[in-house]
Amino acid sequence: MLTLIGALVPFANTFYAGYTVQRQQLVDTTLDGNYAYANKLAKSTEDFLQASQLQLAYTAQLLAMKMDDVSQLGEEAARLRMMSKSFNSITIFDAGGKVLATSPETLGLQGRVLSSEAVKTALREKRPLISAPYQSATGNFIVFINHPIVSPSGRYLGAIGGAIYLQKENILDRLLGQHFYVDGSYLFVVDKQKRIIYHPNPDRIGDFVEKNTVVDRVASGQAGKGHAVNSQGVKMLAGYAPVASTGWGIVAQRPEEVTLAPLTQLMQSTLYRALPATILTLILVLWSARLISRPLRLLADGARNMEDPSSAKDIGSVKSWYFESRELKKALLVGVDAIHKSFSKLREDTTTDPLTKLGNRRRLEEALANFESQGNTFSVISIDIDHFKRINDGYGHDVGDAVLQQLAQRMREACRAYDVPLRVGGEEFLILLPSTTSATAAQVAERLRVAVAEMKIAKVGAITISIGVANWPQSSFEIEAVLKAADEMLYASKRSGRNRVSVQQRESATTP
Ligand code: GH3
Ligand code: MG
Ligand code: MG
Repeated sequence: MLTLIGALVPFANTFYAGYTVQRQQLVDTTLDGNYAYANKLAKSTEDFLQASQLQLAYTAQLLAMKMDDVSQLGEEAARLRMMSKSFNSITIFDAGGKVLATSPETLGLQGRVLSSEAVKTALREKRPLISAPYQSATGNFIVFINHPIVSPSGRYLGAIGGAIYLQKENILDRLLGQHFYVDGSYLFVVDKQKRIIYHPNPDRIGDFVEKNTVVDRVASGQAGKGHAVNSQGVKMLAGYAPVASTGWGIVAQRPEEVTLAPLTQLMQSTLYRALPATILTLILVLWSARLISRPLRLLADGARNMEDPSSAKDIGSVKSWYFESRELKKALLVGVDAIHKSFSKLREDTTTDPLTKLGNRRRLEEALANFESQGNTFSVISIDIDHFKRINDGYGHDVGDAVLQQLAQRMREACRAYDVPLRVGGEEFLILLPSTTSATAAQVAERLRVAVAEMKIAKVGAITISIGVANWPQSSFEIEAVLKAADEMLYASKRSGRNRVSVQQRESATTP
């Protein structure tokens, strides 16, 4: 899990970092682009306003000589409107505000005295002015640009003004509206009062923009870029710049979602391209993690079941292919070996007679249980030393013990590999002979008797033994009864003069 996390977290992190960086880059690029664009358009607008003021100034100069000739005034107005294409209409009025000529003439203002705030200001201040947007006498929402007409002697004669109809097709459309994108990008223009004077949606023109930091900033004369939310609640990336001479603000903006759309695509294809290598790495990581942890797990299993007889084999079969696991395996095997050795030593001890190293009563019980469960026939040789008390009494207990040990040695020598020699009492011994008839057992017993009788024992000289032989199931079907039968035969040997072998001859009376 740790290696998996180690492989996945850097991948996710790189992916996320890539996403963040790309996103920031896209946003920054868009903001920069919009900022540059707003600045460029602010400059174009500024240039346009200057040019149109120059045109008005030039015409005003011409008109100073012709203020009495209404038809000439009309011609000049028409010429200016048609040639410059800057204005939707041209109006020439005298120092009292009375309209002398218009273009187009269809305005129907001829002879009327204009009373709009823009005209009043123009008459009062007698200097070139660009008005704030307002509702004109003809019902159009306009921006009015005028220039005073002054006689060569310096007398104020009136003014010539050009109107831009904000809600109709106008110069701003040509100036600003060329680059209206289908992707939702657009630009709009506000005046100082944050009132929209240009917008791709004509219905918005004349609206005041509230709670928009971008508009607040540009209306206060700042240029810059930033995030904004439009009237539809769409998040926008905006660049903005003011038009210095009028205090108008131009805002170019693009929906954030549109800007970031390529990012999703980009991240998707990044993911697809990174995926094969990542999956390969993960598989490699999983595979090698398994390869490394497997020997440890198997060794742990082995350690858990250390007392099982098969544990050494299990641990031995673990493929410990690297140094640490190899060392662990070695250590475990040594430990298992030690445990099993002490177990079998313990087992040996509990079933062995310490003096003679023959099996004891417990070994006898085990052997009998084995024979019985396997249905293995066997013979029993029961042995007792003749007049052993005398040896003990005559030479001491230690010598008696030495005699017992020598007898045990003879018994071992008389036994085949699968025979079981036992000491079951003080000087009472048994030999179990599996798959052996009583006749064969009698031969073994006889050989042992002779071998013992021929033994030369220090101090004691010679000893003799008496022996009884019985067979299972020949002597009795009950195993206990067979042992008893062998004992009976032993006593029979004692009774009939010792140093002899007696064999249970009769067939079992209790065979079912
Ligand atoms: P019998 O010929 O009738 O068998 O005469 P016996 O003297 O051998 O009589 P029995 O078999 O009854 O004698 C048992 C004796 O064995 C009694 C005891 O002194 C001796 N004995 C039992 N266990 C030990 C032992 O561990 N060491 C020694 N040295 N003597 C033992
Ligand atoms: Mg005895
Ligand atoms: Mg005896």
